[in-house]
Amino acid sequence: MSFRSGFVALLGRPNTGKSTLLNRLLGTKVAIVSPRPQTTRARLQGVLTRENAQIVFVDTPGVHRPASRLGEKMMEAVREALEGIDLALVVVDAGRPPGEEDEQAVALVRAFAGPSFLLLNKIDSIAKPALLPLIERFRGLHAFEEFLPLSALTGENVKLLEERIIARLPEGPVYFPPDTLTDQPERFLAAEIVREKILLETRQEVPHGVAVVVDTFDESEAESRNLLRLHMVIFVEKENHKGILIGAGGARLKKIGQAARLELEKLLGRRVYLELLVKTREDWRDREGVERLVDWRHGE
Ligand code: GDP
Ligand code: MG
Repeated sequence: MSFRSGFVALLGRPNTGKSTLLNRLLGTKVAIVSPRPQTTRARLQGVLTRENAQIVFVDTPGVHRPASRLGEKMMEAVREALEGIDLALVVVDAGRPPGEEDEQAVALVRAFAGPSFLLLNKIDSIAKPALLPLIERFRGLHAFEEFLPLSALTGENVKLLEERIIARLPEGPVYFPPDTLTDQPERFLAAEIVREKILLETRQEVPHGVAVVVDTFDESEAESRNLLRLHMVIFVEKENHKGILIGAGGARLKKIGQAARLELEKLLGRRVYLELLVKTREDWRDREGVERLVDWRHGE
């Protein structure tokens, strides 16, 4: 059985029920992780792991601005933020006539080349015949792949949504350890810190589709040597981003690793051995495609 995974963005004007839907999709098992909302563009909102799939929900803050104030530059940034996204979900309130803000959300999705679903939320509060004209209206705005009426509140069609999302995701790796979401928030914090250093160091050169995954978080020497061994994989979208990230002779990645290690040591209160690998998301299956990188030992 193939494993599917990917990054899914939830868009839509405030109050359409995005948070409610996310909680409903994730259930109680999953924590909402956003340790550093200010510093990351595509912020991790939660991870849904199934036997056959993993859905990583991300938030793209740029899309919350009114489109009227989205200049060309901002639009470019939003496009970039959506670049690493495998699927965009636009959530609208089916109980309200579509407004300018809904159309703005659609405009953003149109700027994004990938697949998108339109979710008509709050169907528990409307008369069903009202749905069809609403769907037609949105169909006129954009060629969404799916139009899905649902209720985040009652859960109606939410399981169906999950199935449709999974069906639409590419084959991919398990980006996040499925069992560690609530148990080990420090893993995510650690990954976020590395990601932040990448963004700081590469600026606009590497788009925000970068994903950092903690491969091992080894605490076996924590007591005896006050040492944590962290292995992380940095996923980039394109082959040339790998080179940018690594830099000449590995200099750039080394800088990223050192900055991250210092912060991690402060945060975790232990010495940290950090190893970073860079992979493109296309070649994740290919061991040859993995570039093993410099590691940073502390005091060894
Ligand atoms: P967000 O701003 O898009 O994240 O929206 P929220 O998730 O915060 O929800 C906004 C309001 O809509 C809250 O009062 C929710 O309880 C309500 N809401 C969300 N989903 C549903 C739904 O399916 N049906 C109904 N009736 N209300 C909903
Ligand atoms: Mg919300």
